[in-house]
Amino acid sequence: MNCLAIETDDGIVVVDCGVTFPHDNYGVDLVHPDFTYLWERREQVKAILVTHGHEDHIGAIPFLLRMMPVPVFAPAYARMLIEHRLSEHEDIVDPDLRTIVPRRAFSIGDIRIEPLRVTHSIPDANAFCIDTPGARIFHTGDFKLEEDPPDGQPSDEERFAELGEDGVDVLLSDSTNVDVEVRTNSERSVGSALRELVRKLEGRVVIGLFASNVHRLQSIVDAALFCDRQICLLGRSVQTHVRAAQTLNKLRIPSDALIAPEEAMRLDPERVLAIATGTQAEPVSALSRLARNDHPYFKLQRGDAVIFSSRTIPGSERQVSALICDLERAGIDVHFRSTDSDVHVSGHASRAEQKRMIDLIKPRSFIPIHGTYHHLKRHADLARSMGIENTVLLENGDVAKWYPYGKLAMDGGVPHGRVFIDDGVSIAPSILEERRQMGDSGTVYAQITLDKNGLLSTPFAVSTRGVLLDEPAHSIEALARDAVAEQLRQAKGPREMLMPEEARDAAARALRRVYRLGSRRPLVVVQVKSPGGPIIG
Ligand SMILES: [Zn+2]
Ligand SMILES: [Zn+2]
Repeated sequence: MNCLAIETDDGIVVVDCGVTFPHDNYGVDLVHPDFTYLWERREQVKAILVTHGHEDHIGAIPFLLRMMPVPVFAPAYARMLIEHRLSEHEDIVDPDLRTIVPRRAFSIGDIRIEPLRVTHSIPDANAFCIDTPGARIFHTGDFKLEEDPPDGQPSDEERFAELGEDGVDVLLSDSTNVDVEVRTNSERSVGSALRELVRKLEGRVVIGLFASNVHRLQSIVDAALFCDRQICLLGRSVQTHVRAAQTLNKLRIPSDALIAPEEAMRLDPERVLAIATGTQAEPVSALSRLARNDHPYFKLQRGDAVIFSSRTIPGSERQVSALICDLERAGIDVHFRSTDSDVHVSGHASRAEQKRMIDLIKPRSFIPIHGTYHHLKRHADLARSMGIENTVLLENGDVAKWYPYGKLAMDGGVPHGRVFIDDGVSIAPSILEERRQMGDSGTVYAQITLDKNGLLSTPFAVSTRGVLLDEPAHSIEALARDAVAEQLRQAKGPREMLMPEEARDAAARALRRVYRLGSRRPLVVVQVKSPGGPIIG
């Protein structure tokens, strides 16, 4: 979840505002950055600048706009996706969205921004040259330096070099692929690999991909046409991106080449190619539904093929491997990076390209961005090995300050963290903790009745859900009753009486002790009835 604040005396500009997706979700749909720092300075926040339309760069925009209605400057393709996303949030009316164009500079307060074209796995990706009164910052966004991308519009290396000659104070550069030594294959090579593969296949072919990769979509469309196959689109995000890309003239599909899934089932299998979402094995996505054979219209059968034109995001490996096995078990021929290394390339710069970026920009100081600590550290080492001594490694919440005498240094931190979203609403960390506890260890529930002294008036029943017990339930229950009675007596001591809240807490303590097993700590819920008082829990 990318979110960077650039702050001058005049105000704050936010670069990118993304989300991430949880792995063990406990009902969490997505996670966005904690905006406390920006909220406390909302009068100073001037705008959000967007490098490109990937979710890890735009997904949190609705949540920030809800807190502060600032203008959003985004390239056309990202803008279209942001509009689409904002239309799902009824509480955001009339958002101020502005389209930016490479090499067309604009100003926000005392900051001047020049967007510059970069190649990436989505159309309209940009780097930014950001001129502040104190320093010139070059932010690469997510990029790669591909000489001959399918749209014929490579990264604007000419302008990067000019700016480098002119002098750049701080370079912030994409670290994702610092472990990939040499330039990766070109997107065009993926196109020809897919075409060759599809040509050899006989049954229906389904190709899974990240739908925002419009170049890849075009390659797949071309492969289908070349092999005389009709195309059908499976999954909402494929349809969203196809529509957006067609609207902006970034994707060409002859209108008679597209067919509905039900129509596809009436054609000879070798005349059909489907483009599908779900390469990360998301349970409700098209590929998972095909594997479970519960897609309403489209069915696969023995001899059909599925190609994963994608990588597996760290954390999804287990689910993706299970999906591949499910498909293979059903007699489907599966192709992915391990079987066919040329069906996917990354959208990020390899080490060789990262080096070239540093060479072109020749910055006075360097901040690696976009990656794990390992990636950032290795990228910082790379910059240092190229003579950029002044490198600063920032983690979430860290602040770097540019000093007028020409040096960049760490300068403390700001509040940061994760905000968990369930169905559009943020969940308090305490609720999430309760869900986690219930999910991991189960729940113990007891209702106790107190006498006028605050001690147990009658024996009580305990019920559990999902709790692992090492003895029969009834004997543990007897233990629990004794433990609660004893704990209440101790808590009361020589006093006249025990307050209901104190009794509740003491009983919960006793139950937690009794029902704890190994590392399992069930959630304990105690309700207290006291004479004349309300029930508390
Ligand atoms: Zn990206
Ligand atoms: Zn990214």
